[in-house]
Order: sequence, then C-alpha cells, then structure tokens
Amino acid sequence: MSDHLHTVQAQIKAACINAGRALNEVQLIAVSKTWPAEKLSPLIEADQFVFGENKLQELEIKAPALPAHLEWHYIGGLQRNKVRKVLKHSNWIHSIDSIKLLDAINRIAGEEGVRPHLFLQVNIDREESKGGFSPEETLGAVRHASTLPNIALEGLMCIPQAQSDPEQARPSFSSLRSLRDEVSQSSGIPLPSLSMGMSSDFHIAVEEGATHIRVGSALFGARNYVK
Ligand SMILES: *Cc1c(COP(=O)(O)O)cnc(C)c1O
Repeated sequence: MSDHLHTVQAQIKAACINAGRALNEVQLIAVSKTWPAEKLSPLIEADQFVFGENKLQELEIKAPALPAHLEWHYIGGLQRNKVRKVLKHSNWIHSIDSIKLLDAINRIAGEEGVRPHLFLQVNIDREESKGGFSPEETLGAVRHASTLPNIALEGLMCIPQAQSDPEQARPSFSSLRSLRDEVSQSSGIPLPSLSMGMSSDFHIAVEEGATHIRVGSALFGARNYVK
C-alpha cells in the first residue's frame, strides 16, 4: 500500500516538474471509499493524512476509528438533510451542486460554529447524467457563495467524462481552469483551488493546474462494490 503511495507521489512530482509547478501546490486526497478503516493505516504511517469519502455512512464509521488529526474531504453527492452530520467529521466538501445546498451549509455551519472549505462542482463536459453547475451558472454561484459568511469558497471541482485515453481528459481540465480564471477575474473573488484528476488522469490534471487530486484505486487497488 505504501509502495503505491510512493509511486503516486513520484508521478505527482514528475507532473509538477513538467509543468514548472511547486510540489506543495498539489494536495493528494487518498480516496478510501469502500475500504475499511484498517486499510488506511499503512498510508497514515507513511504520513498521508488527507482522505476522501463519498458516503456519510462510511465517513461516520472511519473518522472516529482513526487518528483525530486526519483531514476528511467529502467528495460525493450531498443531500441537505445530511449536511450537519457530514460537518461533524469533514471541513472540506468538493461536491456543491446547488444554491440551496450552499445556503444550507452556510446556515448549519453557522449553528455549529465551523467554516467549511467548499468547491463548486461544475458539469464541465455538459453531461446529461451528471450534476453540478453549468459553466454559465458558475459565475452566479460564485458570487452567491462569496456573500455567505460561514463558508470558505476554495474554487471549482469537476469529474470529466470517462475516457479510454487519459489524454482525452486534458481539454476538460484546461476548460475548468480557464473558467476559474475568467470567473475569478470578472468577479474579483479569489478562487485559489481546482479539485480535478483521479487515478487514471491525475498527472494530466496536475499539468493543467489541479491543486487537489482525488486518487482512490491507484492507492488502494480496484474497488469491489459487491458487499
Ligand atoms: C471514487 C472517486 C474518486 C477516485 O476515483 P479513482 O478512479 O479510484 O481514483 C475521485 N473523485 C470522486 C468524486 C470519486 O467519487
């Protein structure tokens, strides 16, 4: 497991060198969904402290079972009635796909005395099957988010269309980056972060400006969803 971690770290480093970026601009999020808490231990021993989960039930089991200094990123679809429970364990949410969800998080974060870091999910390839803000809606959503006192707006997130060749994801990553640049410039609102890139294509996402990469199977092996 820590061998996989070292391989992924070396690939991140190579991509940073290719792109003339500093290694500390890229945060690796180890996506531990479907794996039991004990599977995370070798990574924690190798100083990987940032993990990603996409289901509340799993977050609620693993976070209390593992060291308190870990940082949990919530990367899955989020219903408003689960926000309070997610915020108990996670101060980072990557999957904000509606104004209603933004407002709910702002209200509940205020009640709980926390200030979560948020990414707005953008449906960058305009897929029917995917949620998220359209590129056209993103400026309005960013402006709205910037008025909310109890959240820290980090930036934009995308999940590009599945491709056989990871190079084919490059235009989606560069579109998200351009959209971030345009929206930030026209609104004057800083959007420092871009959450993009998964196991098959994180090296390309890093070359295109990713600051947060969400990597699961390259670290843990293939997932088996059948319980
Ligand atoms: C599962 C998941 C990932 C990680 O996928 P891998 O291909 O295993 O790296 C990244 N982002 C999101 C939103 C996910 O649900």
